[in-house]
Amino acid sequence: MTGRHGRIIKSLAGFYEVFDGQEIYRCRARGLFRAQGKKPLVGDRVVFEITDSVSIPKEGNVTDLLERKNELNRPDAANIDQVLVLFAFRDPSPSLNMLDRFLIHAAQLSLPAVLCFNKADLVSREEREKLAGIYRDSGCPVLCFSAKDASSLAGFLEIIHGKTSILTGPSGVGKSTLINTVCGQTRMETGELSRKISRGRNTTRHTELLTAGEDSYLIDTPGFTSLYLEGIEAGDLKAYYPEFGPYLDKCRFSGCLHDREPDCAVRTAVEEGLISVERYENYRMLYHDLKDRKRIY
Ligand code: GDP
Ligand code: ZN
Repeated sequence: MTGRHGRIIKSLAGFYEVFDGQEIYRCRARGLFRAQGKKPLVGDRVVFEITDSVSIPKEGNVTDLLERKNELNRPDAANIDQVLVLFAFRDPSPSLNMLDRFLIHAAQLSLPAVLCFNKADLVSREEREKLAGIYRDSGCPVLCFSAKDASSLAGFLEIIHGKTSILTGPSGVGKSTLINTVCGQTRMETGELSRKISRGRNTTRHTELLTAGEDSYLIDTPGFTSLYLEGIEAGDLKAYYPEFGPYLDKCRFSGCLHDREPDCAVRTAVEEGLISVERYENYRMLYHDLKDRKRIY
C-alpha cells in the first residue's frame, strides 16, 4: 500500500473525510494520535492509505499529517489562505462598524481579507461605487457581485482559485446563495448533493471545506468574528487602518491617537477627503469602545 495525498474536508464522529482531488474517502486516523500525538484538523493535508476501495464511500486510514501553514480554533481548521468578508449592498444594509470588526479580526489572525459586496443587482452603480470607495485604501481588495448571477462572479472565482478561504459575514447577506452558485456543480459531481439539500439555516454546522473548483475550497463560518474586539489595546487600533499610514508621522504628537488631539494629520486628511470619513468615524467609535471597556473592567 502506497501513501496517497489528500485533504481533510470534514470531521465527524471520529471519521475524517479525505478528498484526493477526485474522490472522498472516509478515513480513520488510528495510530496517528496514539503514536505521534497529532489530532487531524479540517483543512489538513494528509497522507492516507486506502483500506477498502469497494465500499461506498471508499475507506482509508490517515497515516500522516503534512506541516500546517496555520491553525485556527474558531473555526477549528488548518491551512487557511484568506478570509472573504461578505456583506450585502442592501437587504440587509451593511453595518460598517461591524464590517471593520471583521477586517480587524482577520488582520489579528494574520489572514488577508477580501471584502465582497453582494446583491449588486439591488442598487445603482453610483451606490456601488460609493460603498466600494470607502474601502479603497483599506488594504484589502473589494469585489462587487450578485451571488444569484453566475456571470458576475468571475472576479470572485479568480480570487478564490487555488486557495482555501473562510467565507464569513452577517446572516442574510447571501452566503448560502453564493455557496450554492459556486460549489453546486462540484458537489453534485462528488455525489454530495444530499448534503447541499439538507443544509439548514439554523442547524448546527460542522466545519467543512466545500470544494469550489480545482483546489479551491470555502469554509462557511457565520461565527468567525465576535461582537467585541478581543486582544487589542485601544492605542493599537490605529495599526488596523492602513489608510492612516502616510499621515502618522505628521501629527503634532508622536503618540497621537487621532481622536481629538490638536494638529492631527489624520483628521486633517479626513477633512481634505484623503481618508474616508466612514472609516475614520468607525475607527473613533471602536477606539472609544476599547478605551471605555478598559475603564469598566
Ligand atoms: P445567508 O444568511 O448569508 O446564507 O444568506 P442567503 O443566501 O440565505 O440569502 C438571503 C436572501 O438574500 C435570500 O432571500 C436570497 O435569495 C437573497 N439573495 C442572495 N443573493 C442575492 C443577490 O445577489 N441578489 C438578490 N437580489 N438577492 C440575493
Ligand atoms: Zn493624529
